[in-house]
Amino acid sequence: MNINRRDMLLAALAAIPASAFGQGIVARPDRKGRLRFPVDPRPRTDFHSFFDRPVIIRSAEQWVTRDAGTPLIRVVSADGVEGIVRGSTKAKETFEFFRLFAVPRFQGADARDLAGLIGRAAREDYEFAGLPFWSAIGQVELAIWDLLGKTAQRSCADFLGPILTENIPVYMSSNARDTSPEAEIAHLGQRVAETGVRCVKVKIGRRMGYNSDVSPGRTEAIISGLRKTFGDAMTIYADANGAYDAGKGLEIAAMLEDYGVALFEEPCPFEDFEMNAQLSSAIRKRRLKLKVAGGENDYALERWRWLTSHRVFDVIQPDLIYAGGIFRNLEIMRMAREQKLLYNPHFPRNGADIAPMLHLCATAPDLWGFQEYRSRESRLDFVHDPVLKPVDGFVRIPKGPGWGIDYDPAIWKNADRI
Ligand SMILES: [Mg+2]
Repeated sequence: MNINRRDMLLAALAAIPASAFGQGIVARPDRKGRLRFPVDPRPRTDFHSFFDRPVIIRSAEQWVTRDAGTPLIRVVSADGVEGIVRGSTKAKETFEFFRLFAVPRFQGADARDLAGLIGRAAREDYEFAGLPFWSAIGQVELAIWDLLGKTAQRSCADFLGPILTENIPVYMSSNARDTSPEAEIAHLGQRVAETGVRCVKVKIGRRMGYNSDVSPGRTEAIISGLRKTFGDAMTIYADANGAYDAGKGLEIAAMLEDYGVALFEEPCPFEDFEMNAQLSSAIRKRRLKLKVAGGENDYALERWRWLTSHRVFDVIQPDLIYAGGIFRNLEIMRMAREQKLLYNPHFPRNGADIAPMLHLCATAPDLWGFQEYRSRESRLDFVHDPVLKPVDGFVRIPKGPGWGIDYDPAIWKNADRI
């Protein structure tokens, strides 16, 4: 496209009210599984443009429910508005990080400065950086987005917007390795029937397993069994959690390709960037169709720059919380977009927990494929509305203020503040 036509297209897009993008646009994965729009008309989120006075964070709190032990993060503004998210999956192991780093960083601060506060955390507390640190920070960052949305009575997708798709296609994500292939396929079969999803993901190999399997032949048995049970119409993803080196990984990739698996997630140990790069390059040289994905354990933006500029993965999977929250995810997405990589976030949750992921996916121009929905339902022992569930394989983005979930104030009576 020449410059004039491009400028005209951008001008035409700019003239369309942002809300128009959210009307009736339902993107579905195409033949290559890609959900993509030709341009990114999103402005960078500047909270100062949405609020004309400070939104002071009075307290940043971590709670655990008494019934199911669910960690919840709550931030409360000086005006008494609450922002709430379920804590990180590592919340209980990182209570001290929260107390030492998150509370002093955010308590008393103006929430409108969120991007700057996160930037300062990266600079000033860098000696403690790591997945536990960023998990502690990332969960508060998400809660502050909710607080800002509830204060302004706007959906977080509005801040991130425009909404490119309101209905997100999800996959049933099995997280078990301690079951037999038959039992796991039966479990997924039941969940597929209940939810109408058209994609499933299973675990293969042994977690960080030095080329071993949890039991002999399990990996091929579960993949071949899935294909036989569900037929060619089912999309299959496989997650190795760093089980293989580059040599074994290539063998496994060829086997997965034979069964028409679409995605090979975290094939090699995540910290061995060169090994992952070597495997991806070998897979591309063989012209296999399956895509390589990874990045769920990576939090450093500098390392993300290496991973993206070296095209280590076809599909990037930063975690919303482990990578340090929404602003850092947006940075990672921009780096990946420069290399034309695809986006499929890591967020192994279900129900109301996935609301922030839905908002980010709904506004992501490089969104790829089906998104994660954990097959075994968490017990959400707090009263909230709406209750999110896949319908005919899709979950609809909740459109209320913040992340779109209302919590019953009574939940704090059945929870302990840490
Ligand atoms: Mg994974």
